[in-house]
Amino acid sequence: MTTDETRANIAMVDQTIRDAVPDSLKIAYAHAAQPALDAMRKYQDFLKDSLSQRTGADWRLGERYSRKFRFAMHGSMEADNMLTDATRDLAGGRARMMELALPLHAKIAPSHHDHADLSGDPRQNQVIGEVLAHIAECHSSRESYLDDARNDLDEARAFVREKHLLTLPEQANLRVVPTPEFERGVYTAGGFDPAPPQAASKLREYNDYMLRLLSLHEGIPGHYVQFEAAGGIQPAARRALRARYGSGPYVEGWAQYGEQMMLEQGFLNHSPELELTFAKQQLRVIANAILDVRLQMLNMTDQEALDFLEKQAFQEHQEAVEKLQRAKATAAQLPEYYVGWTQWNKLRDAIEKAHGPSFNLAGFHDRALEEGAVPLEALRQLILQAPRQP
Ligand SMILES: [Zn+2]
Repeated sequence: MTTDETRANIAMVDQTIRDAVPDSLKIAYAHAAQPALDAMRKYQDFLKDSLSQRTGADWRLGERYSRKFRFAMHGSMEADNMLTDATRDLAGGRARMMELALPLHAKIAPSHHDHADLSGDPRQNQVIGEVLAHIAECHSSRESYLDDARNDLDEARAFVREKHLLTLPEQANLRVVPTPEFERGVYTAGGFDPAPPQAASKLREYNDYMLRLLSLHEGIPGHYVQFEAAGGIQPAARRALRARYGSGPYVEGWAQYGEQMMLEQGFLNHSPELELTFAKQQLRVIANAILDVRLQMLNMTDQEALDFLEKQAFQEHQEAVEKLQRAKATAAQLPEYYVGWTQWNKLRDAIEKAHGPSFNLAGFHDRALEEGAVPLEALRQLILQAPRQP
């Protein structure tokens, strides 16, 4: 946790919640909040005055990283194997983006003749970069951003219903709100920096197409649907356990897989702009996994990391700076998206193969979600033992 986040946490307990507490509970709240505030201020002082002075410390986990990675992925994969797979998928992802970008580029800039004078990575970067820059100009304003996100969710909900992709939660309790201050250190997509150049960069990064994907990822069919389904797990003890010690690859992999599945089903009518934006987003997932291992185990420098994200994965500068900060603070968390996403695809293939012609996509999704966030290998066994919830 950074000093910014700690300061925001203190403000949340000392002001935001205190102000919202009804008069009848003010005294009880003050009594409960005081020790928490004392502890957080002490921790804040420690971060500021003690920890920040230790110049010899290294945030890199080094050899310990492979152990942490193994625990995070439930022993399903080793860090070095993942690095090999991800490096291969990065090249494949860039080739796929080139395929999608070439026809769009020919339309936008016919006089560039596909940049046939270039080759390899520089040619891919030129062609794909130009098309992405063109797409990035379709974006919300700071004022309309939240309303646009709400409309995107309605669009996703209607598509899931129409195609019968899974059972949607009955409650209508999903709301789009600004990121609370205490979470902005790590999750920055919804929290705009007040300085105009950074906000403009963010709005380009989260353009109309990326915002749609974000709504699929965070909302429908992604995390919102997943957490609502997990809220129905019985008995309560199992529900609490699966929520508290849930599998990261299951949770993040589902959201990635959900985006991919929506596109496979023809969301937004196979729009090439959306397909390319999704391919870029998948490339980011792959690049993040590579970044994590190389930073933590292989002594990648800050400059190498920024170059990698901006030149290999088409990240805007501000996005890359924040990703680097997040990678330093959360070892073995960024690869959960990549590992989980590939494992959800393997799981679906395995269940489809086992069930043969009786395989039903919505039935698979509902069954997989009602178990909650178990490791994906365990989920495979649970579904094979009981194709329907007993
Ligand atoms: Zn061009």
